[in-house]
Amino acid sequence: MNSTYTPANSAAGAADTQRDRSDHPEANPTAAPAGWTVEDSEELYRIRGWGEPYFAINAAGNITVSPQGDRGGSLDLHKLVTGLKQRDFQLPVLIRFSEILADRLERINACFAKAITRYSYEGIYQGVFPVKCNQQRHIVEDLVRFGKAYQFGLEAGTKPELMIALASLDTPGALIICNGYKDDSYIETAMLGQRLGQKTIIVLEQVEEVEVAIAASRRLGIQPVLGVRAKLAAKGSGRWGDSAGDRAKFGLSIPEIVAVIEKLKAADMLSSLELLHFHIGSQVSAISVIKDALREACQIYVELVELGAPMGYLDVGGGLGVDYDGSKTSSQGSKNYSIQNYANDVVSEVKDVCTAREVTMPTLVSESGRAIASHQSVLVFDVLGTSEASYSSPQPYQTGEHRLVRELWEIYTSVNAENYQEVFHDAVEFKQKAASLFNFSYLRLAERARIERLYWACCQKIVTLLRQQDYVPDELEHLEQSMASIYYINLSLFQSALDSWAIEQLFPILPIHRLGEEPTQRGTLADLTCDSDGKIARFIGKKGQKEVLELHTLQAGEPYYLGMFLVGAYQETLGNLHNLFGHTNTVHIHLASKAKTQQGYTIEHVVRGNTTNEVLQQVQYDPETMVEQIRRRSEQALQSGQITLEEARKLMANYKAGMDRYTYLAEP
Ligand SMILES: *Cc1c(COP(=O)(O)O)cnc(C)c1O
Repeated sequence: MNSTYTPANSAAGAADTQRDRSDHPEANPTAAPAGWTVEDSEELYRIRGWGEPYFAINAAGNITVSPQGDRGGSLDLHKLVTGLKQRDFQLPVLIRFSEILADRLERINACFAKAITRYSYEGIYQGVFPVKCNQQRHIVEDLVRFGKAYQFGLEAGTKPELMIALASLDTPGALIICNGYKDDSYIETAMLGQRLGQKTIIVLEQVEEVEVAIAASRRLGIQPVLGVRAKLAAKGSGRWGDSAGDRAKFGLSIPEIVAVIEKLKAADMLSSLELLHFHIGSQVSAISVIKDALREACQIYVELVELGAPMGYLDVGGGLGVDYDGSKTSSQGSKNYSIQNYANDVVSEVKDVCTAREVTMPTLVSESGRAIASHQSVLVFDVLGTSEASYSSPQPYQTGEHRLVRELWEIYTSVNAENYQEVFHDAVEFKQKAASLFNFSYLRLAERARIERLYWACCQKIVTLLRQQDYVPDELEHLEQSMASIYYINLSLFQSALDSWAIEQLFPILPIHRLGEEPTQRGTLADLTCDSDGKIARFIGKKGQKEVLELHTLQAGEPYYLGMFLVGAYQETLGNLHNLFGHTNTVHIHLASKAKTQQGYTIEHVVRGNTTNEVLQQVQYDPETMVEQIRRRSEQALQSGQITLEEARKLMANYKAGMDRYTYLAEP
């Protein structure tokens, strides 16, 4: 057994430690901690990185939301949540800030406008919002309204989405881009929709669609506007990298594009071909990937013009990334470019190729979903309780206690920045020894408990030391997580943040209040579902990802609220009814001037979350029949004396009331 933790052996090391510490004052674990400030929280949760310009912390230690960045007012998110609860909105609640949505849309348009001026581009930008990113009516309606000034349109990937686009978009001349696999009725509806005043473009994704389009055009006597989606050889990267490349699910290969041209020519319809589309996948983290795709697409574009198609639109698809982890790198949860960089690259690349080939510069279209919709939504939920693992200040060893207790106590008192690694191995060994002695009945249950407590107390000290180190040895990598408390959250990840589970996407999560207070706990989050996958154990850290989140100790009688940010794209309709947790309450907040409303905001729309009744019907139960079944069964139980009349009455009352309640837990 190793005994480097005895005072004799550590004397030499102590001198080194002194010297090291004077070189690195921040590494000194005994230095008195300076008072915690909101700036410390800002840095800890990296809020500037992912939140600017919309989210910050105020002097009261609460999150503030500034929907128009520094151009407009802001509100205190904690006060807003308190206000919502006073109006009987139960948590979890999804809060949408309409002005953030407007700001995102303005930003993209402003960046393209700036790039067009900068490169003297002889064309315009006319974006569309891909409806699949968030189909909720209030959002689509808002986008149409905010987008009027930019002739912003909508993109549909399916028939139901086309129905939404046709009904919602009333901006004259705005585009409706029709993607996805299409049948006869999809194509026919799109062609007829053209008559409503928007430019409806049918993007051919498969060779067979040409025949359907030609036939529909003949039948209806309408000349459609067509596009082709190219399957680029330039590979995407990251999670959705396979959306491009030769084996991509969508799009036409080069030979197929040529075949489509021939067919259109033969049908005397080449004059319908106006758009080239490509989409290299979502959340593209590296700008180089976008540039490669652009280069290839521009060449295809000019070739199509040379083959005699009128063209006029180049649609660069989606993929514009969101910096979820705030690192501004090409890591999966981030992106190494700004919207302005993106717009500059699109505009300059298209200009260069068109100039070189003497082709008229096209109208530029992009289909950014994530970059427009993510920031507007914040999910706020409460912590129901914790299993806090606290092993600090164990009882000192007392004469007569088991030998292992003495040895672990000695370890515990001698842990320092020099020996912690060896001490850890010794502690593990003692704990294992205790377990095997127990199995052979050489150790009582209480003694084993005492030993394990001491073991965890050692680990606690080691973890505290590790937090001050830049380097964490491999075998201690997960120690912090194994020591972490579990915070039970009033939420279903499967309903509200499916990508957190499905593709391990990181969303920024942090308390929305108490940020002027040091978060002394380290925790992981466990949701309400009975699924052991319903947990979050990966968070945004200052240096990449971390396995635990810094959190505050719960205070008796005080709610503790956490916010999950940047959840406005994809999560809402991906969510499912796992364990029958339904949709959450949703509110749309509009910032009003303080002069008009005392609180500084108005609640524009409310979408009530599902009741139990509603989710049960979704899985084909009839709540009325269920109530009747319970009534009948309690009547039988009453007859046989298994239940009292009073109990039966209470059961019925609870059962009936439960049907109309929110599926989530009421605050404790
Ligand atoms: C999903 C999708 C988009 C949106 O992608 P984002 O990464 O959210 O911008 C755009 N176009 C097509 C064809 C898509 O399938």
